[in-house]
Amino acid sequence: MKAVSFELSLPRLAAARIAGFFSPAGFVAPFGPTRLLDLPDPRPRRDDWVVVRPAVTGVCGSDIKEIFLDADLDNPLRALISFPHVLGHEVAATVIEAGPAVRRVRVGDRVAVSPWLPCEVRGLPLCRYCEQGDFSLCDNFTVGDIAPGMHAGNCRDVPGAYAELMAAHESMCFPIPDGVSDEQAALADPFSVALHAIRKAPPRPGETVLVYGCGPLGLVTIHALARLYPGARILAVDLHEYLRPFALAMGAHDYLAGKGAELIERVAEATSARVRKVRLALPWVTGGVDRVYDTVGIAATLETAVRLVKPLGTVLLVGVGTPRRYEWTPIFFREVSVIGSNAYGAEPFEGERQHGFTYYLSLCAAGRVDPTPMITLRLPPLRASATRVVAPEPSSRPAPADRRMAVIDRNKRLVGLVALSDLATRTRRREQVGEIVEGISQPSQP
Ligand SMILES: [Zn+2]
Ligand SMILES: [Zn+2]
Repeated sequence: MKAVSFELSLPRLAAARIAGFFSPAGFVAPFGPTRLLDLPDPRPRRDDWVVVRPAVTGVCGSDIKEIFLDADLDNPLRALISFPHVLGHEVAATVIEAGPAVRRVRVGDRVAVSPWLPCEVRGLPLCRYCEQGDFSLCDNFTVGDIAPGMHAGNCRDVPGAYAELMAAHESMCFPIPDGVSDEQAALADPFSVALHAIRKAPPRPGETVLVYGCGPLGLVTIHALARLYPGARILAVDLHEYLRPFALAMGAHDYLAGKGAELIERVAEATSARVRKVRLALPWVTGGVDRVYDTVGIAATLETAVRLVKPLGTVLLVGVGTPRRYEWTPIFFREVSVIGSNAYGAEPFEGERQHGFTYYLSLCAAGRVDPTPMITLRLPPLRASATRVVAPEPSSRPAPADRRMAVIDRNKRLVGLVALSDLATRTRRREQVGEIVEGISQPSQP
């Protein structure tokens, strides 16, 4: 099968860093760590495993950070990752093979795949966290006959969904109800992340909440808040004006673009709070918002968030930014709770304990949520470019089908990977390639 693999090799990392300095496409150059490779087809690991064919795969912020080498070496999660691995963990797929002990799904079923690899997937007795449904807190991500890995997409032994095929334990498969599209199902992972975070500190009726960041995670958080907590007022914040229509379409009541002191003043105005100015430092507010859902999770957003939240308020840390120093005095002075939130599991929703995926898919089936208007770019399936016949080049350079190019949005964020052969079918002139990428990189209107 064709698959996008990430290899941890110092020469490849160094080459990508140098090439990436000149162009974002350098990070996915053939000599870099992220490549399209031919790998053996995956097989069911045990009798209770299946093989699925991904139909739609989302590009997660963590994939983008990995491809663009945006991480520090002191990150402790490195203990829970093994290389090389096939990326991709937001996936809707069809079951094409089922082991003899599989009961939960059948060949031909459409499924949303939860990528997590806790005790049950590893064939181990359940640890205390898996017992209570907190699969992302499992004790055993490094134990058993599967290489260390939190989830498919960062584990050497369980390839992710940037591939033509993927193997999964049956407990990872959630049947997609009729009437729910593959695109909706592929958003089960980010939506469940948002549901889990909101449930840790849900807004009470009449409260004002702020969603920091309007990337995919921010937009699904806005959507979940708007549809499930209609009594709350939702302020959405990001740097760029062009995200306004997306935030409003997902259900935000107001959108504020900006950062730092300017943003703090805007939020103060929107919440009738008073600004406390401080010489040579960021201002803070008296009053402000009741809760902040920080889907960016970098020093700048945390520093701003703890200045905008009311005394005794809550900041939910959902985004996975690279840590840096920030000024956190308001946390103790105003007794702010900063709560971490990681992924999802089985938890009470509307009085019934269920997996986040099950709850999300039922919300889609009932027409209560539909986050798909936030999708800005639809790339051709991996196999379409992989099976295209490409004439071999006279030089020893890789065939064009093996060249992947990053598609960057206006915020310099990766929104997809395109094979150069996809573009070559439209133009033979190199200078037009840039224009085409520019064209498909424009976020569409919701
Ligand atoms: Zn993710
Ligand atoms: Zn466990």
